[in-house]
Parts: sequence; C-alpha cells; structure tokens
Amino acid sequence: MIQITDKTLCSGCEACAQICPTQCIDMVDDSEGFPYPVADPHRCIHCGLCERVCPFLNKPEVNDESTEWVAAVNNDTETVRKSSSGGIFSALAHDTLSRCGEVCGAGFNMDFSEVCHRWASTTDEIEGLIGSKYVQSRVGESFSDVREKLKAGLPVLFVGTPCQTAGLKNFLQGKSYPRLLLVDVLCHGVPSPQVWRRYLSERIDSLISANPGLADHAVDAVSFRDKRNGWEDYSVTVCISARDRDGAIVHNRQSINNA
Ligand SMILES: Cc1cc2nc3c(=O)[nH]c(=O)nc-3n(C[C@H](O)[C@H](O)[C@H](O)COP(=O)(O)OP(=O)(O)OC[C@H]3O[C@@H](n4cnc5c(N)ncnc54)[C@H](O)[C@@H]3O)c2cc1C
Repeated sequence: MIQITDKTLCSGCEACAQICPTQCIDMVDDSEGFPYPVADPHRCIHCGLCERVCPFLNKPEVNDESTEWVAAVNNDTETVRKSSSGGIFSALAHDTLSRCGEVCGAGFNMDFSEVCHRWASTTDEIEGLIGSKYVQSRVGESFSDVREKLKAGLPVLFVGTPCQTAGLKNFLQGKSYPRLLLVDVLCHGVPSPQVWRRYLSERIDSLISANPGLADHAVDAVSFRDKRNGWEDYSVTVCISARDRDGAIVHNRQSINNA
C-alpha cells in the first residue's frame, strides 16, 4: 500500500490512484495545495500495483546514448505566437488528428481556476491545449482513457510533465503500443493549484476594488507566455470581462512583464 512519508518522493502523477483495482486511493491536497495519494487501509487488498506503477519507486529506463536530438520551430508564425515555445505541440497534435487519433493534454477549466488533462479530437479542441500552464495539472482518469483508446486501436498523443509521462509509462506496465506518442515538456517543477487560484482571485479582487461598479466578472483568457511584444519580451496576461452599472461589458487585460 502506497504511503507518502517523504513528499520529495511523490510528484502527484496519480498513476497509483488510477491503477488501484479497489479505488482505495484518493488524491488529497496538502496545506500547500499539492495533491498526494492517500490509501484507505480498510479497502486495500495489498496487490502491490500502486507501488509497481510509481515512477519514483520504479524509474522508467532511459537510454541517453540512443537518443537523437533535433530542434524545430513551427513554420506557421500565428501558431508560434499562441504557443509558449516553438509550437511543436500543435504540429504533433494536428498530425495525430490527421491519422484519426486523439490528443490528451493540459487545459484550463471553464473559469480558468484549474488545469486538468483532457481530450481533443478536433482542431478547435486542440486550441484549448496550446500553451504552457504553470500550474500542476490533474490527470484524473487520463491514463485509463489512454489505455482504452490504445486498445481500441486509436493513435494517441499524450503530452505532460516528465513525471506524468513516467507515471503513464509505468501505468501501461511495459506493454508496447506503437500508436502511442508520449511527449514530455521540459520542466523544472509545477506551482501549486492553490497558489494559482489565490493569484487569480487577487487579480479579480484588485479589478473590482478599483472599479466598485463592476459586477458579473468572468475570466476570458489566461496566457502564461503572452508574446504580443515578442518572444523575448513575454508577459503573463489575465483577461477579465465584467459588467458596468449600465450593463455594458467592460474588458480588462492585466499583463505582468516577465522580462
Ligand atoms: C509546468 C511547466 C514547466 C516548464 N518548465 C520549463 C523549463 O523549466 N524550461 C523550459 O525551457 N521550458 C519549460 N516549460 C515550457 C515547455 O517546455 C514548453 O511548453 C514546450 O517547449 C512546448 O512548447 P510548444 O510551443 O511546442 O507547445 P505549447 O503549445 O506551448 O505546449 C503546450 C503543451 O504543454 C502541455 N502542458 C501545458 N501546461 C501543462 C501542465 N501544467 N502540465 C502538463 N502539461 C502541460 C499541454 O498539454 C500542451 O500539450 C515548462 C512547461 C510547463 C507546462
């Protein structure tokens, strides 16, 4: 039964929770807002699967010597502007759709308060996955969905942090699926979802307190790497719309320069 006593040895990839045959593992937020697995000892049947899929206990093999390195940038400038880096995710995603496959990546929920992994099978759905969200993404049932889709013969592109792709690799328990393309983003770590929620509500509160007549606010867009002033001079942008006293919609854009 998985028990996290040292938090530096768990990235919250959720592989253990998804593999558990009795679903006795819940992901529970700690005081900083990071989810960790907590197993119910009364429902645990001691099958050991949770420990077998844990990427910290069983690091997937990496053969650096056989790795071939290439660098690339998407040749569509609009795609590069929308993407956090060179827009290669979009190219891979569209290639997957062209082969009647499906793409699993990280997107915001409706009010931009959470990031979670979800599926895209159309060009429009790919749009919501473009761009790095510097918040831990909840993978939910994605690994099980990946396995089901692969078993059904669909090409699948899964993109996540290295910890998430390692968790998925272990979740698939060494079975080779030639139609699976696993992509991990370069990553130094993910900020806590709780910190993001607090930051977003501070941005909304500062807008409302500076404009007391505004009501019915909604977050319309968030970019952690807004390149409107160029790739080198990017900013974090939160776009909020609200109604004024006359009912007219007021759009507000708050950008914080990162350079
Ligand atoms: C949490 C995080 C940390 C990063 N740290 C670094 C770093 O240290 N150094 C560096 O050079 N680059 C870092 N990046 C940037 C990352 O390497 C670029 O996203 C990557 O270069 C892909 O860019 P792109 O333009 O091809 O695609 P984009 O369209 O920008 O990338 C989008 C893809 O990233 C995935 N993604 C977005 N947010 C998350 C998330 N929270 N969790 C899992 N997957 C996500 C989406 O599923 C999508 O597939 C980080 C990205 C993230 C998400």
